[in-house]
Amino acid sequence: MSLPSGASGDVPSAPEDARVRGALSHMDHPRVRAGVRLGSEVRRALGEFFHREGFVEIAPVLVAPVTDPLNHPVADPTVDYYGQPFQLTRSMIFHKQLAMRAFPRVFVFSPNLRFEPRERSSTGRHLVEFTQVDVEVRDADREEVMTLAERALTHVVDHLAQHARRTFAQLGRRLPVLSPPFPRRDWRAARAEHGPEFEMALSRESPTPFWLVDIPLPEREFYDREDPARPGVLRDMDLIYPEGYGEALSGGEREFELPAILRRIHAKGQSVEQFRWYVEAAQAGLPPSAGFGIGVERLVRWLGGLSDVAETSLFPKRIGTWSL
Ligand code: AMP
Ligand code: MG
Repeated sequence: MSLPSGASGDVPSAPEDARVRGALSHMDHPRVRAGVRLGSEVRRALGEFFHREGFVEIAPVLVAPVTDPLNHPVADPTVDYYGQPFQLTRSMIFHKQLAMRAFPRVFVFSPNLRFEPRERSSTGRHLVEFTQVDVEVRDADREEVMTLAERALTHVVDHLAQHARRTFAQLGRRLPVLSPPFPRRDWRAARAEHGPEFEMALSRESPTPFWLVDIPLPEREFYDREDPARPGVLRDMDLIYPEGYGEALSGGEREFELPAILRRIHAKGQSVEQFRWYVEAAQAGLPPSAGFGIGVERLVRWLGGLSDVAETSLFPKRIGTWSL
């Protein structure tokens, strides 16, 4: 490849590399520009809401000795951190739990890197790099954070009604009318009724966002709290968007007592060694808390009626695909 000389007088011309041309032309699509503009207002509204509710916004953690194990396989790149293997953040769950020692209510716009399996490349819902608004509340129960999430979404929609009318007109999309509390469905009953693809099936037929609650223990990570009154059932929830847009957020109460954390790590067949620094920190005391993490790109996709989360980003990292 011949690089341009950079001498003054060079006339701009199309880059030789088709991947660079593709990345630049992505930005030229009117729907992408509208999606990015919508995302800008969604971020503003979310930040405004949590500040107004008395939350402290903490800075994102990008690299740490350990990160969210997740409940599905993703590639596991490590970086050499002065001779120690560190991981890139898949979610800030552990750090926001630790942050509870310092502040009772925290939120963070947290960039997550997940090298998702290639099968997920055409869901319209997955990117390698995305942002979660991760929220945690000390001493809260599940009900409290479900209400908080409903109020946050309602605030976003109200904000957009005032500040994004032209973008919606351009996208040919109407803002949803939200009337919380959103309906709730029992995870196990929904699955028994609709089979393994129940989440997307229900998403397609629902006219409103809805909650899936009481997820069975093996379906989630070790940090989601088991219901003391119902062994095997977690005090957690997912919010699902309507119109087939799928999962919006996951959250719930957290295991905070060391014996429960150790028992749950073992039950997952994971090694305590892998989570050593987190376990050590838990030994010093983790306050009880509940929270959730909502994917910004998926929220923007649903609100804007976009076909893919990539349309919410100027520089989307698509699964298995080169990107600027
Ligand atoms: P999880 O920790 O997997 O429940 O993810 C939390 C939220 O982040 C999900 O509910 C989605 O809104 C969003 N999310 C998860 N994975 C991705 C991804 N690969 N691309 C975009 N958004 C994602
Ligand atoms: Mg989830």
